[in-house]
Amino acid sequence: MNKFPIFDKKSDKMKLLRDRILRDGRCLEGGILKVDNFINHQMDPLLMKAMADEFVKRFAGDKIDKIVTIEASGIAPAIMVGYLLNLPVVFAKKRVPSTMDNCLRTKVYSFTKSREYDICVSGEYINKGERILFIDDFLANGNAAKGIIDLVAQAGAELVGMGFLIEKSFQQGGDYLRSQGVRVESLARIKSLSDCKIEFL
Ligand code: 5GP
Repeated sequence: MNKFPIFDKKSDKMKLLRDRILRDGRCLEGGILKVDNFINHQMDPLLMKAMADEFVKRFAGDKIDKIVTIEASGIAPAIMVGYLLNLPVVFAKKRVPSTMDNCLRTKVYSFTKSREYDICVSGEYINKGERILFIDDFLANGNAAKGIIDLVAQAGAELVGMGFLIEKSFQQGGDYLRSQGVRVESLARIKSLSDCKIEFL
């Protein structure tokens, strides 16, 4: 039995995502959208594949050497994109392993956990001159994205762009990144979650 809605390949795939958010997304206090049913806990591989296809289409004109994300919820979309492009996928770790040499690290403020934490990536896996595409689940205030920009700069690599499944446009991350000249591609853009009503841009 197919537990997930069958999607029509010819249809607007991102309408598929918006419809899914409306159907299965839940608003929590403080402007948080819970998508545990299909992205953050239970995952829908067909939807994940459709979203990765869309990123591949949007970044088709760019030379990319590597996909970078942050654990844990960025890994699923990132690996799909990496699979489709036949590129390696690196995830920044939220704990610094004692066994890691040559660790590039930076601090990130977590929007959902309201605290600061270190993220790190081995300097072995992001190299000088490499062209990096960052993929993550949500863009809110852009703190995770700023951390990645810092790590990419420390490595001497180049950021091609950033792809998010869901951008909450009522928070400042998208405006900030675009004002810095970062190419941002978001598959669903949420204008408001006020009164627990989900409105898209
Ligand atoms: P930012 O760093 O842009 O402020 O927040 C992005 C990170 O916080 C994402 O990687 C995601 O894990 C988490 N996040 C931010 N807003 C939400 C939300 O509304 N729902 C969920 N599930 N995660 C969020």
